[in-house]
Amino acid sequence: MQRLVLFDLDNTLVDRAAGLRLWAQEFCVRRGLGQADVEWMVEADGDGLVPKEIFFGELRDRFRLPDSVSSLWAQYRVRHPALIPVFPGVPAGLTRLRAEGWKVGLVTNGFADVQLRTITGSGMGAYLDGWAISGAEDVRKPDRRLFEIAARRCGTTLSDGGWMIGDSATSDVGGGQAAGLRTVWVDRGGAWPSGLPVPDHVTPSVVEAFAVLLAG
Ligand SMILES: [Mg+2]
Repeated sequence: MQRLVLFDLDNTLVDRAAGLRLWAQEFCVRRGLGQADVEWMVEADGDGLVPKEIFFGELRDRFRLPDSVSSLWAQYRVRHPALIPVFPGVPAGLTRLRAEGWKVGLVTNGFADVQLRTITGSGMGAYLDGWAISGAEDVRKPDRRLFEIAARRCGTTLSDGGWMIGDSATSDVGGGQAAGLRTVWVDRGGAWPSGLPVPDHVTPSVVEAFAVLLAG
């Protein structure tokens, strides 16, 4: 099996949840809102899964903001990515993998501009051989085609296998399995959904996943 590893971005390599909380805190300070409002915003974001038109519509209504939904969303698209931190140990881990001959790629679902800002703003781009963003390619995880694009950008194909690592049971693990990859599920504190094929490994963060790869 070739030394190819593809990573998910949000809440795998970078702490989107922490960045969202920072963004909500900044927003509430600027708008004269309180800590309870921060908590409401974090909840309403639904870990990023609530459609943004709905989220910003609810936000505008709840706080009776004069801004349009599209204006709120446009500000968020620039500011939130700038606040997303990289998880500790990620730059060192990716550097070590590449030093050991691994091709390191990224497969992420999301808007092209937001994800690209996250990749470049966090500095992650310097540690990657290639990436594929669903919004730029018009195909989403778990579709195998997005994994194929990422592998190609790393200068290889999926035919010799590799690894997919991420925190989503369906998009990352299910998608990786469908792409013929071995998988590591980064468990953020939930249970593995019953009925789904299990990953090869489960780790509490991506840092332990680096050790799985380096041990193989
Ligand atoms: Mg994720």
